[in-house]
Amino acid sequence: MLSSIGGSDSHAVFEAQGLDAGGLGVFRADVSGCLLAGNGHLAGWLLEQVEELPGRNLETLIVGFDAERWSSCWAELADGSSMAPFPALFRLGSGRLMPIEVRLAGLRFGSEVTEAFGLLIPIGDRLLEEGVHHVQRAVLEAIAVGRPFKAVMDLLCRRVEDLAPDVLCSVVAIDEAARLHPVAGPSLPEAYTKAVDGVPIGPCCGSCGTAAWRGEPVIVTDIATDPLWEIPRPVALAHGLAACWSTPFRMRGGRVAGTFALYYREPRSPDPFHQRMVDACVHLCAVAFEHEANQAEIRRLAFYDPLTGLPNRALLRDRVERALVRAEREKHALAMLFLDLDRLKPINDSLGHAAGDRILASVASRLASLLRESDTVARIGGDEFVIVLPDCDAAAAQLVADKLNEAMSQRVEIGGMSFTPSASIGISLFPADAQDFDTLLKNADMAMYQAKSDGRNCARFFLKSMNEAADRRLELEAALRQAITQNQLELYYQPKVHVDGSGLAGAEALLRWKHPRRGVVPPDQFIPLAEDCGLITAIDAWVLETACAQIATWDQAGIHVPSVAVNQSALRFTQNDVPTHVRETLAQHGLAPHRLTLELTERLLLGDHPETQRDLTTLRELGVRLSIDDFGTGYSSLSYLTRLPVHELKLDRSFVSDLEANPADRALAAAVIGIGHQFSLSVVAEGVETAGQHAILYAEGCVYAQGYYYSRPMAAAAFAEWASHSHLRQKIEGVLQYHT
Ligand code: C2E
Ligand code: CA
Ligand code: CA
Repeated sequence: MLSSIGGSDSHAVFEAQGLDAGGLGVFRADVSGCLLAGNGHLAGWLLEQVEELPGRNLETLIVGFDAERWSSCWAELADGSSMAPFPALFRLGSGRLMPIEVRLAGLRFGSEVTEAFGLLIPIGDRLLEEGVHHVQRAVLEAIAVGRPFKAVMDLLCRRVEDLAPDVLCSVVAIDEAARLHPVAGPSLPEAYTKAVDGVPIGPCCGSCGTAAWRGEPVIVTDIATDPLWEIPRPVALAHGLAACWSTPFRMRGGRVAGTFALYYREPRSPDPFHQRMVDACVHLCAVAFEHEANQAEIRRLAFYDPLTGLPNRALLRDRVERALVRAEREKHALAMLFLDLDRLKPINDSLGHAAGDRILASVASRLASLLRESDTVARIGGDEFVIVLPDCDAAAAQLVADKLNEAMSQRVEIGGMSFTPSASIGISLFPADAQDFDTLLKNADMAMYQAKSDGRNCARFFLKSMNEAADRRLELEAALRQAITQNQLELYYQPKVHVDGSGLAGAEALLRWKHPRRGVVPPDQFIPLAEDCGLITAIDAWVLETACAQIATWDQAGIHVPSVAVNQSALRFTQNDVPTHVRETLAQHGLAPHRLTLELTERLLLGDHPETQRDLTTLRELGVRLSIDDFGTGYSSLSYLTRLPVHELKLDRSFVSDLEANPADRALAAAVIGIGHQFSLSVVAEGVETAGQHAILYAEGCVYAQGYYYSRPMAAAAFAEWASHSHLRQKIEGVLQYHT
């Protein structure tokens, strides 16, 4: 073995023979590989006399130098006269192996090669270093090219065993619970490796378990007698393992990650060569383990949702695709449930994202606890979960959906408040509804939307007709994209008036889509769609620019509209720099900022985007008027009014429509008007349709109003016409006389 070079035994051999390590073996051999003669060094290595050498075959002296190998060497010698030196292992008389370099030359008699002349040069240290170096390079290369962890550790063991044929290598990992898990041990008996798996480390637990426990190397020269092996002794001896030397290695944080061990088949202590090898190997193991831990973390981040620990969309796709192959082969069904939490957004908006996260985490663990091992639950979006049930038909899927809805309805406590989550579930089935992951998911999603519009907190199966509805939506979306480029959008203007009849206070710009085939499409039918598909930001920008241009045109025509209000979707504020756009547009048309009013929803005002708050403040400082649209329909917390830089509240139409018949509505309207006075905000009543409503609002002190009673929204030209007549004053004065 290599190990004897520089080792104590080989020194003993050399000393006994009076040789130094630099001595060369010299021999002559015949065509059959038999020695004709050898020198004293050669005899000394064999613990023999020089006279005993002739007749011995090289096959018995040099590892792997069999008849076939010799005859190919001979052929080469016969051909030329000398050949390139090569490394080999020499079998010493002690039984160990010594690395040598072999140089051969042919001796000619006439034109024929009749003998080989050989030089054997001991190359212990050089070979050892080269060997170690090769192992290091091979292992680091394997790590670098991304070979699997176990394969890398296996490679390490095999390379070491190639260099030191008398050892059996093993690498064992220590898990978080301090148990041993063999990672590699290609030459160890499988039954032995199995026996080690899962054994806890401890103060008296074989070489590896003890080394890991102590955090330092443990050398056991005789397993048969060492007390450390008391427990695992029978298994080891049964498999012919006689000695074991184990060295722990640590991760960067200092935790013992594993052990690298050398086993021997006879009781013995390690060679210094083995020491050199182990030093190199534990370092390699630490590098490989560290790398594997990093890879595992990357895999976790790539395939799992950090908030809930559930698989993400990528892992879901992978699992479903495998499950589909199996379902196809075994001819069974598969169900996909798309689960969307109801009303998470208001919680996020009003209590903050930390509260929303708590709810999500609690829902995730409920879902996970309800499902079987073979099921998958994944989180694929903010409040969207997907559950995949292999081997599950429609009836079974319905049962699971009911179970999920029931489990969902248990309360969650957050910050002293309690919530009852609920979910809308859409179900699609393989093979009836779809054959691939994407279609299954799309169909389940569509069914979920149906569940939402059917009142939430319920489950719906996918139906083919849903596809048609979705197709119509897609068609509408495509048409809407064209609407912008083909000038099919137009602004109508509805007057905002002084309730006391003193005239026009402003106008609200309302969008109309003049579709060449469908006719005028009302905003309720396309604004939500535009918000969903992201077109709304472009549309609202267009509205703002068009309204400003209109004010300027009216100004030039001598028609004074004090301020024009435009509706701006909440989405626009998170995506665009609204203040800059507003400033530039006003400047372009030479308008004073108070000529423009932005109507915003409570949803926008309450969102916790710091940028939005900053933008609103910038707009207010600029002098643009800000108005809260549909006031009273959103969140009931009024405290935000003290924080927001707004000028105006628009009392929602729903409070106005029943003003005459319903005293509660009248009280509410009066309250909102009161709030306006308290906070110095203008209040505009929306949707005034009758003289009676008008009179009540006047009586309650409401200053501004809007509604069909005064005028429907009109195209710009009609609005100009309307504004230049005085019929408004006459109408209102008439009514007030009549009602008072
Ligand atoms: P909104 O901002 O609350 O606008 C007032 C809606 O009430 C308008 O509907 C208007 O025509 C209608 N209305 C006015 N007076 C009366 C009345 O006396 N009785 C009744 N029943 N209705 C009245 P419209 O024009 O259909 O707009 C609907 C909604 O679409 C708007 O509600 C607004 O939220 C949205 N919208 C309209 N234009 C735009 C726009 O340019 N951008 C954005 N983001 N949203 C817009
Ligand atoms: Ca509005
Ligand atoms: Ca409104």
